[in-house]
Amino acid sequence: MSGTGARRIRVRVEGLVQGVGFRPFVCGLAGAYGVSGFVGNDPGGVFIEAEGEPSVLDAFTAGLTGQAPPLALVERVLVEPTEPVGGSGFRIVASRRGEQPDGALVSPDAGTCAACLRELRDPGDRRHRYPFANCTDCGPRFTIVTGVPYDRCATTMADFEMCAACALEYGDPGDRRFHAQPVCCPACGPALRALGADGLPAAGDPVEAAAGWLEAGRVVAIKGLGGYHLAVLAADGAAVAALRARKRRESRPFAVLAADAAAAGTLVHLEPAAERLLTGTSRPIVLAPRRRDAPVADAVAPGARELGVMLPYTPLHHLLADRLAVPYVLTSGNLTDEPIAYRDEEALRRLAGVADGFLVHDRRIEAPADDSLVRVFRGRELVVRRSRGYAPAPVGVPWRFPRPVLACGAQLKNTFCVARGNQAFLSQHIGDLESYETLRSFAESVEHFCRIFGVRPAVVAHDLHPEYLSTAYARDREDVDLIAVQHHHAHIASCLAEHGHGGPVIGVAFDGLGLGADGTLWGGELLVADLVSFRRAGHLEAVPMPGGAAAVRQPWRMAAAWLDRIHGDAPPGLAVVGRHREQWPAVVRMARAGLNSPLTSSAGRLFDAVAAIAGVRDVIGYEGQAAAELEARVDPGERGAYPARLIEGEPLVIAAGDLVGAAAEDVAAGVDAGRIAARFHRGLAAAVVRAVRAVGEGTGLRTVALSGGVFQNTVLLEAVVSGLERERFQVLVHSRVPPGDGGIALGQAVVAAANDRR
Ligand SMILES: [Zn+2]
Ligand SMILES: [Zn+2]
Repeated sequence: MSGTGARRIRVRVEGLVQGVGFRPFVCGLAGAYGVSGFVGNDPGGVFIEAEGEPSVLDAFTAGLTGQAPPLALVERVLVEPTEPVGGSGFRIVASRRGEQPDGALVSPDAGTCAACLRELRDPGDRRHRYPFANCTDCGPRFTIVTGVPYDRCATTMADFEMCAACALEYGDPGDRRFHAQPVCCPACGPALRALGADGLPAAGDPVEAAAGWLEAGRVVAIKGLGGYHLAVLAADGAAVAALRARKRRESRPFAVLAADAAAAGTLVHLEPAAERLLTGTSRPIVLAPRRRDAPVADAVAPGARELGVMLPYTPLHHLLADRLAVPYVLTSGNLTDEPIAYRDEEALRRLAGVADGFLVHDRRIEAPADDSLVRVFRGRELVVRRSRGYAPAPVGVPWRFPRPVLACGAQLKNTFCVARGNQAFLSQHIGDLESYETLRSFAESVEHFCRIFGVRPAVVAHDLHPEYLSTAYARDREDVDLIAVQHHHAHIASCLAEHGHGGPVIGVAFDGLGLGADGTLWGGELLVADLVSFRRAGHLEAVPMPGGAAAVRQPWRMAAAWLDRIHGDAPPGLAVVGRHREQWPAVVRMARAGLNSPLTSSAGRLFDAVAAIAGVRDVIGYEGQAAAELEARVDPGERGAYPARLIEGEPLVIAAGDLVGAAAEDVAAGVDAGRIAARFHRGLAAAVVRAVRAVGEGTGLRTVALSGGVFQNTVLLEAVVSGLERERFQVLVHSRVPPGDGGIALGQAVVAAANDRR
């Protein structure tokens, strides 16, 4: 179609443009504008040559960004002129492979789209009830990608040869499966099987068999996108209890899958933002206020005011939800503290004795990914666990990483981060690096990320804590420059990175524990920080943590340490003292002597102490449980707030003991836990605001960044943010990056890069 005035251009498109239907989209766009040429994938993204009239080429180039498909994220379009060659038509050419992938991105997995769902339910369609239907707008991506560029042969779908009908769809530019790499059908794709506890195939339809088991109160392991899940009917209290017991006394709340948004609305109160997140392509678990009449057993989320709900995100989950017509629990297929099982043999071995039946298939999972978990804060997403559906989408930052970085993250809720150019890739949730299995999963996932993003790390960032396994892993890497980043500095930097803010700011980092620059355990910190460095401007009053790790598992020990500091030898006659009277004196002696009792300024431990004193929780089953339950108890009608003094000095100290003492007095006076929880939250928030104001007066800084796992607590977050806004501070809070340790690797990466530049 090249006329007399025709020009030809070479275009490079970088960003999230592979695996999202970008090449078919370019073909369609070229057709619409009458442009000739070709498009293909290479390790750096998408390359295009296009020929046509200049004005048409301009419109075509603008459309590459402006009209891109829903799952695409176009970061750069580079255009250069070249010699016209004539010719007509526009086609997709073979992918070019290269040694150094530099800009190519792998898309996150996307929930089943409406068009595929219609086919699934259409008896006349050849994919009627086919559990692996997908298209260019939906389906597995990251979890099946083995390498780049993104092509079928670089996914686990390479095991399946397309049938003639699928090949036609794949090759037809007018088809919505044009160049959809995981395209398949019952004739050529993966197949579902139901296996009994004995490993033998069940008779009949596999979905029907699994549904029958669930209805009979059994625990069923289901192979999903990013790993195996365990399922029971949500209303079946006995089955839920059995699942908890078999998962080795798991006490975390379970998530519930509902067939659609209307069904989810019978379980939780959904504000519009929550419904948007629930129905979006990422399909996370959304935490929302539980309805009083929700048809869900109490054991699903004991002690919680909220319930985690999600919608089906694969055809298999849809088929099961449609068949059951009631919500089912879907929790990661592992034992407490182990990573999610995703390799078939290993899953069948590890889940034997846990599951009564298995619903499995023969599409391999290359990368494990747990379900993501989000809350809503002021109508925006607040990601708590960033995994399936989110990873490995890049977090764009307005700075360059001078050399490729690997940031190894923290010990708990580990994620890692690889970064190059101006992109940082935060990994899926790995878990607590406390077992060989988790460490292996971490090391394998690091290798996978480095491979698919073509990163050979030159700089490796790690936490200050020498005993974190992530630190040990970093120190084992050869031929790299190591940069140690303080835990709370990394938290604040992760918040700055998410906002593209370079600092300096006043950072408030509230979390469980992180090793401080002075060798004590920090966790209630006010830092004056930028990306390069920080100064500790203030903190919560520090107390001994009697027994170290034992005090983390037993919040009553923190109550003992605080009450002893406040009341000395005459502890008030509180129920928590009575419940632990045999061990109490020894724990107090331990704290006084400083024996195995490291000092901590942790906000998480402060919540623990108040939760124990208020009678909410003495001993926990998972990290953060006491704080979560204290938050759940907050009486929203309560307007009171405990006072806390600020102790002038460098650094400034928030007298947290004032809050604990006031709570203890209220308990002794018979005030209920809901009002105590509210007064504590409101008092702590007010103290934080006053401390920030004092630091602001000293430094002239007017921007505050809030980070750390304690700020997953939206009651505290709202109180602190609104207090700071009343003082006219600009406040940065997390949204797409978790405030907890799952976001810390991003902070480590940007701090390492800032120091690498110098
Ligand atoms: Zn689809
Ligand atoms: Zn087929």
